[in-house]
Formats: sequence, structure tokens, C-alpha cells
Amino acid sequence: MNTISAPRLHKLRHRQPLKLSVIIPFYNEGPVLPLCLERLLRVLDQLPLSCELLFVDDGSRDGGAQYLARQAIIYPQIKLVRLSRNFGKEAAMTAGLDQATGDAAIILDADLQDPPELIPQMVGAWREGADVVLMQRRSRAGETLFKRASAHVFYRLLNRISDCGIPADTGDFRLLSRRALDALRQLPERNRYMKGLFAWVGMETRVIEYDRAARAGGVTKWDYLALARLAIEAITSFSIAPLHWATIAGVLAAAAGGLFGLWIVIKALLLGDVVQGYPSLIAVITFFGGIQLLTIGILGEYVGKTYLETKQRPTYLIQDIIGGIPAMGLAGQ
Ligand code: UDP
Ligand code: MG
Repeated sequence: MNTISAPRLHKLRHRQPLKLSVIIPFYNEGPVLPLCLERLLRVLDQLPLSCELLFVDDGSRDGGAQYLARQAIIYPQIKLVRLSRNFGKEAAMTAGLDQATGDAAIILDADLQDPPELIPQMVGAWREGADVVLMQRRSRAGETLFKRASAHVFYRLLNRISDCGIPADTGDFRLLSRRALDALRQLPERNRYMKGLFAWVGMETRVIEYDRAARAGGVTKWDYLALARLAIEAITSFSIAPLHWATIAGVLAAAAGGLFGLWIVIKALLLGDVVQGYPSLIAVITFFGGIQLLTIGILGEYVGKTYLETKQRPTYLIQDIIGGIPAMGLAGQ
């Protein structure tokens, strides 16, 4: 029988090219997908690695998935994972990370705001031993001043109050080694603020700066309401500081209220002035009413989060997987 001895098998395994998974979550990105695919293929062709292109269709309704399904026949390295509906980018990324079979994975936006041309540099940092290669935005083209300013403030606030220090000006564009990927997959929570989860994992991290491009086409999927929701999600997932703030606000307001009450009583005793004070009464009631509602709201955020976690529903559902022949791809020359 023709068997391979253990040392030879080891050698063979060793000679197998390393595999890189590129994860691209997309939602209604039809107009940019052809360009995205073209640029990715061009870059990956140059790499001495075998590659898998994991497109995660987050419930698109514009025919983008059909386009990719056709391309998957031509390019076996394309694997299209279709989710059963729109679950949001965080869930789509999670699906991609779960499906990735590579020795490292890169997450990239389909709209080409994260230039695929930086992939060789990221792979280089990984080959030098980094488990996480973080891409930090030096500039953001094509984004409004308000968005840039609010992102600036938000990231700094989050970094300050979160337990694990979420780096400023980094998006989801990054490379994760197999070790980091496996660590990340152990985090079971349903509320997935990925940037926070990545930070929680830690590990040997390398930061590379880049200039964030404008969208190559299509429109952003985030309106300000969605961004605000993501911000609340981020803060409540990675910090219980707001609960402390609520307590402190309660203590301060109670102390101020006590002093004010004392002052009213003393004034009434000294001056006999008991009827006046309607404006101050209304001011105090509305002030305390506001603080109470705010505090209940903060509590509610955390209670709601606990409720959603206890339901233990899956983060996403896969409708089907198209393409992706294992061990084939743009293997090195
Ligand atoms: N995205 C997604 N699901 C969503 C919303 C967005 O998969 O529900 C994808 C989107 O197609 C893009 C990436 O996430 O590839 C970033 O989204 P977008 O460009 O709209 O966000 P921005 O860059 O404006 O922050
Ligand atoms: Mg974008």
C-alpha cells in the first residue's frame, strides 16, 4: 500500500501554502461589487498565499448576490454565504468569521472604503508575528464634518469608559490570525459590538495607518439613528459606567434637594414665608422627574440587554452557501 510516513506528511503539510480568508459583508452593494471583486482578485493574485473570498450577503435585495453566485462559477475561491435576512453588519461579520477556514482572516467593507491594496502590507505584519493587524484611519474622505466630529468624540469617550480600551479611529478593517479568530469565536454574546469584542481578545497587535477612501459607489447604510443605536450598544456592551453615573447623579440630586428643602424650612420658620415659591417647586419637580426617567432608561438598557442575552437566539441564520471549493484558489506561483 502506498502510505506516507509521518515525517514526510509533516513536511507536506508544511509546504502547503498558508490560506488567507477575506471576509466581505455586504448589504445592497450591487453597484460596487464588480469593482470590489476586480480589485480584490488583482491584489490577491500577487500574494504567495491561497485565498478564499468570503462574501457574506446580509439580506441584500438588489441582485448583488446573484452576480456573485455567477462569479463563483468562474472563480472557485469565491464563497458566498447568504444570510436569511438583514441581520446587520456585526452579525454578518460574525457569520464570515465563523465560516473562515484560513490561517488568517481580513475583514473588508464591500464599498472599497478599505483599500484592498493594503492587504499585502497586512499579511506582511502577520507573517512577522502579529496576531491582530489593526488599520487605523489617518483621514476619512467623503464623510461630513459632523460625522467625523461625532466619531472622534465617541471613540474617545468609549475608550475612556470601556474596560478593555477600544482603540480610536479603527473600524472593522483588520487582520486576525487563526489564534485570534478562535479566541473571538469563544465569545458567546448575542449583542455583538465587534470592535469591542476584537479589543477584548487583545493579543499581539500591530497598527498600520491608512487614508480611508470615499465610497466607490452606492450609499451608506448607516443613518444617524443607526449610528446612535450602535453607540449605545457599544457603551452598554463594554462598560457599566452609565450605571455609576446614574448613581452619582442620584446622590448629587438628593443632596441638592435636601439642602434646598432645609433652606425652605429655615426660610419659612424665620420669615413665615410659606406660600411663595411656585417656580422653584416646578423647577425642582421637573429636574428630579428628568433625572429619574434618565436613570430608569439607563437601567432599562442593561435589563433589556440581559433579556436579549438570555433568549440565546443565534446571531444570524444562513440561508445557503454557494461556491467555495476547498483548497483551491489563487495559490502562489
Ligand atoms: N453592511 C452590512 N449590513 C448592514 C449594513 C451594512 O453588511 O446592515 C455592510 C455594507 O454593505 C458595507 C459595510 O457593512 O460593506 C459598511 O457599511 P457602510 O459603508 O454603509 O458604512 P460606513 O462605511 O458608512 O460606516
Ligand atoms: Mg462604507
